[in-house]
Amino acid sequence: MQAPADPSAGALVLFSGGQDSTTCLAWALARFARVETIGFAYGQRHAVELACRAPLLAALRRDFPHWAGALGDDHLVDLGVIGQLGDTALTDTIAIRMQDDGLPNTFVPGRNLLFLTVAAAVAYRRGLTVLVGGMCETDFSGYPDCRDDTMKAMQLALNLGMDRRFRLETPLMWLDKAATWALAESLGGPALVRRIVADTHTCYLGERGELHAWGHGCGTCPACELRRNGYARWRAATGGAPAA
Ligand code: ZN
Repeated sequence: MQAPADPSAGALVLFSGGQDSTTCLAWALARFARVETIGFAYGQRHAVELACRAPLLAALRRDFPHWAGALGDDHLVDLGVIGQLGDTALTDTIAIRMQDDGLPNTFVPGRNLLFLTVAAAVAYRRGLTVLVGGMCETDFSGYPDCRDDTMKAMQLALNLGMDRRFRLETPLMWLDKAATWALAESLGGPALVRRIVADTHTCYLGERGELHAWGHGCGTCPACELRRNGYARWRAATGGAPAA
């Protein structure tokens, strides 16, 4: 068993049930002696992702016993107010399209800002000092609340506003989706890749019918495209990794 790299710190991972946040959870479990998870119900169309969370946590405990001791409580927070604000393709049944400002209408203004604020409030109460999120600005949909500058500003705001020294970690920030698959394999081998393919959810439309090589999903929404193309690039780069 590998010793935690930062055994004194406890981490709270923003865990949606998707590929990125599951990879971040594995990243945290490899580093911290105590790791808790938080997820948000916000009226997302793909609320099926929330149903993936408990089985994923159970599978991680079962298949990765060296991580099980560090994996602590899971928190699910109702942020239905985001869905009530409405008018996005992530929370309303409307077609996904590009807006005049160059962002897809799946952008939910303020979503990650609110997530991080609530996560920090939970971390404050739980005595956790590291917040871990899957935000990424390398291979993403252009959401401004995923940018590194936004994360740095949020870390400062949270620390000033709560008088703490939270560290906001975003291990995927400079990775493209192919590198995110590679990171998962480096952390948990083919077993973790298999769990991510079969058990995580990414598709914005909530499609979970057919299991493709890269996972479940419609294959054409922006989230599926990133996941599918990243998987293909990773497989090509590794000359055919173990079949998942
Ligand atoms: Zn999709």
